Amino acid sequence: MSQEIEKKVFRGRIKVPYKHTAGAYVEKFITEIGKNNKIFGVKCPKCKKVYVPPKMICFECFEKMEEWVEIGNQGIVKGFTVITHSTPVMPLEPPFAYGIIRLDGADTDFVHIIKESDPEKLKIGMKVKAVFKEKPRKRILDIEYFEPIQ
Ligand SMILES: [Zn+2]
Repeated sequence: MSQEIEKKVFRGRIKVPYKHTAGAYVEKFITEIGKNNKIFGVKCPKCKKVYVPPKMICFECFEKMEEWVEIGNQGIVKGFTVITHSTPVMPLEPPFAYGIIRLDGADTDFVHIIKESDPEKLKIGMKVKAVFKEKPRKRILDIEYFEPIQ
C-alpha cells in the first residue's frame, strides 16, 4: 500500500566565515600581483618546473623550491566552464568563465576568471592576459580577471 506524503521543504543559508594563513609563498605572490602587477612563480632546482601559484615543495621531486621567477601576464586557455547564472558570491555579472590558464613561462595551470561577454568566442588554446585591479586588496582577485587577446 502506498501513501503519498506531502513533503515540506525549508530553505536556509548557513554562512561560514573563515580565515586561513596564506603562508610566506602565497603572501609574496599576492603582494607582487597587487603592488607591482607582476606574476611570480617558483622554479624547482632539480626538474626546473615553474609552479604558479608558487608551492614550497616540488610535487614531482619533493625538492624545496626557493628560486622566484617572474612570468608573463599572458597565457593560453586550457579549459573553461561558462557561468550563466548569477548568485550573490559571483565576482562578476554572468556570463563569464572560470578558466584553466597556463601562463607563459609556467609549467602548471592556474584557475581564474575569464571575462568575455560572448561565451561563444571562448576557445581552448586562445590567448588571454591578466587585467589587474586598480585598488588591490591583497587577494587573488587583485588579478581582476583574464581577457582574450584579439
Ligand atoms: Zn622538481
